Amino acid sequence: MQILIVEDDRGITSFLEKGLRAEGYATVVAGTPDEARLALGTADPPIDLVLLDLGLPGGEGGEVLAWLRGLGMATPVIILTARAEVEQKVRGLNGGANDYVTKPFSFDELLARVRAVLRTAEQPSSSEIVVGDLRLDLLTKVAWRAGQRIELAPREWALLELFMRHPHQVLSRAQILSSVWDQTFETGSNVVDVYVGYLRKKLNKPALEPLLVTVRGAGYRFATDATGRSGQPERSADARN
Ligand code: CA
Repeated sequence: MQILIVEDDRGITSFLEKGLRAEGYATVVAGTPDEARLALGTADPPIDLVLLDLGLPGGEGGEVLAWLRGLGMATPVIILTARAEVEQKVRGLNGGANDYVTKPFSFDELLARVRAVLRTAEQPSSSEIVVGDLRLDLLTKVAWRAGQRIELAPREWALLELFMRHPHQVLSRAQILSSVWDQTFETGSNVVDVYVGYLRKKLNKPALEPLLVTVRGAGYRFATDATGRSGQPERSADARN
């Protein structure tokens, strides 16, 4: 489990890093909204949860939350802030935050909330995943794109679900192999490329934007060139439709 700490106070950052690592979580730190967007777009393995301070140099933590939800990313977010006002809390939760912790907080309290949010996030919160014009119906295991039904083989389904749960993030072949295929393949296996090819054939139609982008030397990303370029989050935020 990889946790992104978005916080500009070094004391709090190192307190959180030490505590979370001692509990077995991997951590990444971002001190500004731009760094947070970059980390969310490029972290490998992908970020599983975000601890988000609201007052940051160069912007508001709320922008990061709005950007994330605007892209259709369901990554859980816990807001950390000194602003205990009810109004702020309500706004944070309305903006798509999963929970809220006010400073000062004890590490045990934070840890309990992290665990609770991760537990909830692991269960599908709804019966479908929607990214752009593609929808996965988790009950019937059928994909729909632009209103057209797409039948998928079980392995294709598992691969597409993985991509859609991590939209706009680069997934390496090794990550995909370990998530979608149980057995270990020898290095150099091209099974991932073969299945990405199958998915492209089924998902990509001449009139629609191609969805699975090859990132040279890194892997694949579920997004078009226009919607998911790492490091250019500003463009991706408005390219959702
Ligand atoms: Ca701050």
